[in-house]
Amino acid sequence: MRILIVEDEPRLARTVADLLREHRYAADIAPDGPSGLDNALTGIYDAVILDVMLPGLDGFEVVRRLRQQGMRTPVLMLTARTEVGDRVCGLDSGADYYLTKPFSSEELLACLRALTRRQGEQTENVLAFGDLRLELASCLLVCGARSVRLSRKEFEILGMLMARPGRVVSKEQLLLKVWGYESDAEDNNVEVYISFLRKKFQHIGSAVTIRTLRMLGYQLEAGRQV
Ligand code: CA
Repeated sequence: MRILIVEDEPRLARTVADLLREHRYAADIAPDGPSGLDNALTGIYDAVILDVMLPGLDGFEVVRRLRQQGMRTPVLMLTARTEVGDRVCGLDSGADYYLTKPFSSEELLACLRALTRRQGEQTENVLAFGDLRLELASCLLVCGARSVRLSRKEFEILGMLMARPGRVVSKEQLLLKVWGYESDAEDNNVEVYISFLRKKFQHIGSAVTIRTLRMLGYQLEAGRQV
């Protein structure tokens, strides 16, 4: 799971990022409101940890604009202030959870678990497209009676394509989702994993294909293979 941390205090941002990485989350940091919003709008994050007091745009405005764009990514709001008014404002603006600074590591991790679990319940535990079913808990790709287990990276890539049925997903989106901002992975890493996925589709006899759109990205197609 990939988490975006929007926090302008570098030390706190790093502490939270380190904590998340210790617990096997991937974490990226945005230091202000506008870059936080831009990053969150890429759609590659499973949750956003959002400070309220931020340069550029405050946290309330970031989450409001995120929801305005139809993004349902769970948002955990952080604030140093404890007034009830802020809590209400945060929830009204579309935040899912509210955590008051200072908070313990355990509190933060518990909130994050609750948030990502809630998202899982909303989106069910299986993604389906054409004759394919992707079981999220086990990374198992199923077609009729046949199935194959996906590697973590294959799973992340196919999950992103299946969550956007019929839409084009760019190489850059896949690269960010799977390898992250700090990685020096190249476009052809995506190509390699797309070719692994195509082989696995064939292996389990699926009619689904991954179409390459030059300069644009990839798209799933349900039709029969020729
Ligand atoms: Ca702040």
